[in-house]
Amino acid sequence: MAKVLIIGAGGVGRVVAHKCAQVPEVFEEIMLASRTKSKCDAIAKSITNRTIQTAQVDAENVPQLVALIQSFKPDMVINVALPYQDLYIMDACLETGVHYLDTANYEPKDEAKFEYSWQWAYQDKFKAKGLTAILGCGFDPGQSQIYTAYLAKHYFDEIHYLDIVDCNGGDHGKAFATNFNPEINIREITQNGKYWKNGAWVETKPHEIMEKLTYPNIGVRDSYLMYHEELESLVKNFPTLKQARFWMTFGQEYLTHLRVIQNIGMASITPILYKGVEIVPLQFLKETLPNPDTLGDNYTGETSIGCRIKGIKNGKEKTAYIWNNCSHQAAFNETGAQGVSYTTGVPAMVGALMFLTGKWSGAGVFNVEEFNPDPFMEAIGPYGLPWEVKEDIDLEFQY
Ligand code: NDP
Repeated sequence: MAKVLIIGAGGVGRVVAHKCAQVPEVFEEIMLASRTKSKCDAIAKSITNRTIQTAQVDAENVPQLVALIQSFKPDMVINVALPYQDLYIMDACLETGVHYLDTANYEPKDEAKFEYSWQWAYQDKFKAKGLTAILGCGFDPGQSQIYTAYLAKHYFDEIHYLDIVDCNGGDHGKAFATNFNPEINIREITQNGKYWKNGAWVETKPHEIMEKLTYPNIGVRDSYLMYHEELESLVKNFPTLKQARFWMTFGQEYLTHLRVIQNIGMASITPILYKGVEIVPLQFLKETLPNPDTLGDNYTGETSIGCRIKGIKNGKEKTAYIWNNCSHQAAFNETGAQGVSYTTGVPAMVGALMFLTGKWSGAGVFNVEEFNPDPFMEAIGPYGLPWEVKEDIDLEFQY
């Protein structure tokens, strides 16, 4: 029996709150706090089987966070606000002696750059206090690393080639919209690509490398090589990897919009003066784009995210593909959020459950592939994200 404080009342926060509420035997008391309390209240109202508490908090204000944590006394904070707030929330957890979990690694506001160095630097502080910080426990990062750890443990002696393949085969009917926070999303996908090859990072131009990949129940989609944060921890924790890459599908319409947004300067994070007021073009654009929370209603189709791995078993080459397909409509019917929020929120709840039930433990800062994948993999299907594995198939890559 535990108390959790969920911070961030966006699409992912909605799913985490709903999913925690479905497991009262573990999540005995739940509080949802965010910058805008009315959003927390609306989510609380949509949860009909339980009463959850709500609160207003500025997650960039450590004293405010500390006061909230001290009054509610949670066992764990689940941070599903934005990556900018990670370090403030970790500081507040350290000050109050509370465990921490998030779904995206820290990013400074003024630089579109994400890497684990800032959060890994908290290792000694969390260790010294006997506290656990679980980093990146959404789908990718998160489930993608647990899939890798699971295949490495049960299907291979050594893994050599890893390709994380992320397809959104859904249709929300809008000309252009992002599936999670538009500001974070556009920062991520306009960065240079990067992948691991023979012990070094290879950099590419954004969307320079494309492969046509086939996704179960969806078909062939243009898939672009991108840099993604979990590659950084996976190559560290699986040193046998000769190559590690991340692919995401984008349609031509989406890429055309993106190119225009960049060409006219609206993806910029450098502040400009507009009628005497300083604004950040990308933040302004976010306000004009559809809120990802509102996409669920008419969203059809599925997401399909998985890992394709080549390695060796008993001295012979072997391949395996593990994946989940998630229906946007089913996710919406259950939680009121679309599939991308759902596939992030369910692993966050299950990660918290692993920790709170003693299946994952340890003092310090952890990436999820460092824990035992088995109890997580057993739980994640029944909680909403079933998975499949196919062995010895064509992974569609020339190595
Ligand atoms: P949203 O933008 O929908 O929600 C973010 C929420 O955080 C909003 O409710 C926002 O408040 C709140 N927030 C922002 N700043 C503050 C602050 N200073 N203090 C308190 N609350 C604040 O994003 P999503 O729900 O789509 O995404 C949530 C997180 O999940 C992000 O970090 C994202 O990167 C991550 N993610 C991870 C994925 C994975 O697979 N690992 C995939 C998708 C997302 P307000 O409503 O007032 O704006």
